[in-house]
Amino acid sequence: MKNGITMVNQSKLENRIIPYKMLNQAVSTTYELVEKILPEDGMPALRLGLKYINTIMTDFIKKAGEGLPIIGYHFAFPADYLYGFDCVPVCIEAVSYFISALLPDGSEPYYDLITNWGHPFHTCTSQKGTMGMTLDDLFKFDAIITPTAPCDNTYASYPFFRYHKNIPLITPDLPFLKEEKSYIYYGEQLRLSLEELGKVIGQEINYNKMKKHIELENESNKTQLEIFELKKAIPCPVENMFNAISAAATTFMSGREEKLEFYRDMLQIAKLRYNNKAHHGTEEKIRSIWPYMIIFFDLSLGEWLDRELGMSILFDIFNYNFSDPINTKSDLDTLFYGMAKKGMELPMIKQSTEFFYPFIDDCVRLAKEFSADCFIFTSHLGCKQFGSVPQILREALRDEVGIPMLIIDVDVGDKRMTSEKIFKDKITMFAQTLL
Ligand code: SF4
Repeated sequence: MKNGITMVNQSKLENRIIPYKMLNQAVSTTYELVEKILPEDGMPALRLGLKYINTIMTDFIKKAGEGLPIIGYHFAFPADYLYGFDCVPVCIEAVSYFISALLPDGSEPYYDLITNWGHPFHTCTSQKGTMGMTLDDLFKFDAIITPTAPCDNTYASYPFFRYHKNIPLITPDLPFLKEEKSYIYYGEQLRLSLEELGKVIGQEINYNKMKKHIELENESNKTQLEIFELKKAIPCPVENMFNAISAAATTFMSGREEKLEFYRDMLQIAKLRYNNKAHHGTEEKIRSIWPYMIIFFDLSLGEWLDRELGMSILFDIFNYNFSDPINTKSDLDTLFYGMAKKGMELPMIKQSTEFFYPFIDDCVRLAKEFSADCFIFTSHLGCKQFGSVPQILREALRDEVGIPMLIIDVDVGDKRMTSEKIFKDKITMFAQTLL
């Protein structure tokens, strides 16, 4: 009987993160399919990614079952910073888009739920999905932490958690200027926020544990950078699918051993292909850079581009931003300074919290360094702060590199705005103008 009661309790505690249980099921099933259907060397990024994501999901569910607090976080607040606590970190944005990628109707029912509740339809689906799930009590957060960045959606959407669901919301203030005084200020904000979070969940920060996870993340970034450098080769030795899985790793697996393993495995494969001048698909005909996001409602798009059009996606926004490793060997001020600097240079945070000139400069430089034939810009419905940038970028690429850019209006997490078919048709027509 005692055992029965324990199991009921465990299941009740696990049910504080029902969407993770749904995802775990979807990840396991997809992994099983990939293992059974694909040849042994087929789509390694997907195979390896699912394997490691599955391990992490299972661990999170187990920890939720043990009663650890559930901490929601914006991807602008890397999960490795949270590992000074015993907790289950849940990335608000990654959940919506993971479900969008892996379940047949994606997060659409939850977008509709929160829209019908009264939240504006045009806000970011990466947040709307998890908001809908929380409205439906599928998530029971103990606290949520988000910097005041990178966009209006974040400022306008996260208060829902505090004011409607009464979840403690902690908001470190992220400054816009990228300079010394900002890093010191934001470092202090991070420290105060973590202390506040500790009070909410009744725990002290274990700095040794946190440093261990930050060191793992330093190592992951180094390995990811090596993969990035290999992509300069023609043909690109890394398949398109890597970008989607790496985006998931960036937002969801920070500071975990599994993330480092994923990049190490992929680096080995990329080196082998590089040495043999091999391409994952048939033949590389077009080298494209996606300076913003890829789409998440159709996981197969990358593979289709590789195989049907011979188009490589060299990288998307989650795969070209790198920062200095965080110094964990000195005092706490140095640690928080490094965490702040890195936090302000994360993908999308860097681009959306400063003027657009550095973004344009980076794109022009990357186009040349990686021998790109074209750019494809997904103008995401949520990212209104970036709405005017694509046209300026298109002109810069035309004038300074002599390459074209396709702009597609889309909601990267909701196929009902621009369907997979329309998306593919647009790219196919664009590709014909390049060949
Ligand atoms: S910057 Fe764009 S994609 Fe990122 S959270 Fe904001 S609206 Fe969503």
